[in-house]
Amino acid sequence: MRVALVGVFAMMAAGGVRPQDNVAPGGDARVQAALAAIDKTEPATIAAQMRLCEVPAPPFGERARAMVVRDMLQAAGLKHVRLDREGNVIGERPGRSPRPNVVLAAHLDTVFPEGTDVKVTRNGAVLRGPGIGDNCRGLAVLAAVAGALDAAAVETDGSLTFVATVGEEGRGDLRGAKALVAETLKGRIDYFVALDGSGSSITNVGVGSRRYRIAFRGAGGHSYSNFGRASPVNALGRAISLIADIQVPGSPRTTFNVGRIGGGTAVNAIPEEAWMEVDLRSVDKAALAQLDRSVQQIVKQAVSTENARWKQNDAVTVTIEPVGDRPGGRTDESARIVQAALAASKTVGFAARLVENSTDANVPMQLGIPAISIGAGGTGTDAHSLAETFVTTNSARGTARALLLMVSLSRR
Ligand SMILES: [Zn+2]
Repeated sequence: MRVALVGVFAMMAAGGVRPQDNVAPGGDARVQAALAAIDKTEPATIAAQMRLCEVPAPPFGERARAMVVRDMLQAAGLKHVRLDREGNVIGERPGRSPRPNVVLAAHLDTVFPEGTDVKVTRNGAVLRGPGIGDNCRGLAVLAAVAGALDAAAVETDGSLTFVATVGEEGRGDLRGAKALVAETLKGRIDYFVALDGSGSSITNVGVGSRRYRIAFRGAGGHSYSNFGRASPVNALGRAISLIADIQVPGSPRTTFNVGRIGGGTAVNAIPEEAWMEVDLRSVDKAALAQLDRSVQQIVKQAVSTENARWKQNDAVTVTIEPVGDRPGGRTDESARIVQAALAASKTVGFAARLVENSTDANVPMQLGIPAISIGAGGTGTDAHSLAETFVTTNSARGTARALLLMVSLSRR
């Protein structure tokens, strides 16, 4: 056992963890051998992370990257590797029994549009490229965990399912995770762990959000000769002013943002159209629903006030188009999945914090399935920007933590 522990000791040497901390979730010699394998293969994991990142995965265009991940999961010894209807990649690692079934997921997509230069550069420990941490790191670790379990022939009580999801970012609106939970693995998920981005934090609170594009329309006309017509821009202005005054609770944290506005034709024209994009968020479902109702009511009120001001019924109309609906949820700090993640963090030398976020884990959380999202190690900066970086220092810890967590949760 001492020999097999080399990998973990190497991590401890850097992190100052006492050897006895390692006893907790690690368990048997094969798991220790898997950890040793991770330490050895981390350079290959980093190379895979870079390679994956140079395969573009714009919103709704993840297929090419999905194919690469499919091959990686196959090479890692997973069974029944396939794509589901939504485009998620699924691979299975059967245990002694089908349950508990523990899902490890990482999203394929980036926020970057088609045509973005996805070249990755490396300068020592610093990798640079759009998506290198979020979420090429998660994808590389997904495959590395499967590979290390395979290399060490680890047997688990329950089963493990590895998934690369589509549509986590922005307008993707968690479509991959939604399809996975509602269809592909319906009723077969006992624990759900998302690997998202770099670092060591653990997300146990999923921030829910609703997003709308709200468009006001009217007849428009000449600013002088048609003066007296109701104006979509006026209605928009009235609505924004009222939204700005909404009182939201600080706890549960609830927020609103009018992120973009637009419209109009010319300085001397009554506009035909004006629009805004609104983002509403809360960690609490009821608070989010309440905020949503307030905004809907305000928009209608702004239209009727504008029309009444000019004594023109129905001159300005409005459409409210939902462009995002992410469920919120929470996995209690005392839940086994959170405690297991904290224990695994400690084992590898992470001082992990519990944080709030919006990730694939939101979807199972809302259904009451124990779910968290964890960083996949290393350190990252500037996620969602072209200047995104990932620093590889001690990154094997992220891989090791994910493996320990999967093994721990698969125990009966
Ligand atoms: Zn992400």
